[in-house]
Amino acid sequence: MQPGGKRAARSQIGFSDRASHQKHGGSLLGVPLIPIMTMKSLEIPKRIHAKLMEHVLRAAPLEACGILSGRDSQVQRYYEMTNGDRSRDHYSMVPQEQFKVIKAIRAAQQEMLAICHSHPGTPARPSQEDLRLALTPDVVYVIVSLLEPETPVVKGFLIENAIVTEVPIVMTAA
Ligand SMILES: [Zn+2]
Repeated sequence: MQPGGKRAARSQIGFSDRASHQKHGGSLLGVPLIPIMTMKSLEIPKRIHAKLMEHVLRAAPLEACGILSGRDSQVQRYYEMTNGDRSRDHYSMVPQEQFKVIKAIRAAQQEMLAICHSHPGTPARPSQEDLRLALTPDVVYVIVSLLEPETPVVKGFLIENAIVTEVPIVMTAA
């Protein structure tokens, strides 16, 4: 592949998306247009959200990390991962574990939709470190903040070249 080939393909996708938004009067099914990158939301079933929260609370005050897989932005499974850093303010996935999970996701004919981690003592916003380490533009970065222990906050972001776009997280039944 030519250097820069991927970038060109991505901006074409962005362009055709904008065109389709204009056709629908600036919104798609009543959802406001997000100007940067592809319009997207992440749908998380309640039972999977509960698993994610259980893991994050169990790991606190250390950061927890995990992977959400599924199809077409609909999450079907949560994989709890080990935080190799065992730290309160950063995480890294253990490569062997990550390979195993990616293999399992492929075998189930799903995609990796999101990389999750918790912020035990800070807001649900990507840190400078998170921006630096966000190398996968097609994946949603989900951050669970336990800053207010009574009301944890879960947010999703697309991150590309340190540009952050919030992706709405929609909780679904089942
Ligand atoms: Zn973080």
